[in-house]
Amino acid sequence: MTGDAEQKMQFLFALRSKGVTDKRVLEAMEKIDRGTFIRGIFAERAYEDMPLPIACGQTISQPSVVGLMTQALDVQSRDKVLEVGTGSGYQAAVLSQLARRVYTVDRYRRLVSAAQEAFDALNLSNITTFIADGSHGLPDQAPFDRIMVTAAAEDPPGPLLAQLRIGGIMVVPVGQSDAVQSLIKVTRTDTGYDYEELRTVRFVPLLEGLGQE
Ligand code: SAH
Repeated sequence: MTGDAEQKMQFLFALRSKGVTDKRVLEAMEKIDRGTFIRGIFAERAYEDMPLPIACGQTISQPSVVGLMTQALDVQSRDKVLEVGTGSGYQAAVLSQLARRVYTVDRYRRLVSAAQEAFDALNLSNITTFIADGSHGLPDQAPFDRIMVTAAAEDPPGPLLAQLRIGGIMVVPVGQSDAVQSLIKVTRTDTGYDYEELRTVRFVPLLEGLGQE
């Protein structure tokens, strides 16, 4: 086996051993090369189950967390999905394999253009990128079947709850930015919202306004 193939096998093994068992999620993560989303010296560590630094002081999430969040979102093939916090674009690319359309938004122009380049390189044509403060959601594209937030909010943002379709699911890390946060799964029902706490996580904070880069 070549070094590359062995690295990939270990990558998938690590995902399974941390609870990523959904076949479609594993297939999507096998197909989308995480290495495409990491530049510079950290690229060689792309297949380790670790968060890594990207531009603008942000991080690409740990692969097993990407897998568990994607699994919790229970994406269906007809779904229109919003991701808040494009970062490297890796999570959006994984979602693009499971959904009909993915809208992803980040407050840093520089991150969004690098992510767009990666989507183009991989021919992922069902992802649309936006530069905006995603805590307001994307009112023009709403409602969404699924929403994934990949930055920690103090509470699930009201506009995002409002832009979730009835029957829809949102996964969002909630808590103070420097502390341990809880990953929350919100399901919108006919009459309101159900909340389920999934596990502890650690994400960079959801910030207001646009970034400077
Ligand atoms: N999902 C990413 C990792 C996200 S890191 C990946 O797969 O690589 C969190 C991202 O959320 C950062 O890029 C940060 O700029 C972004 N972010 C923080 N607050 C935001 C906001 N209000 N609107 C949009 N993006 C935000």
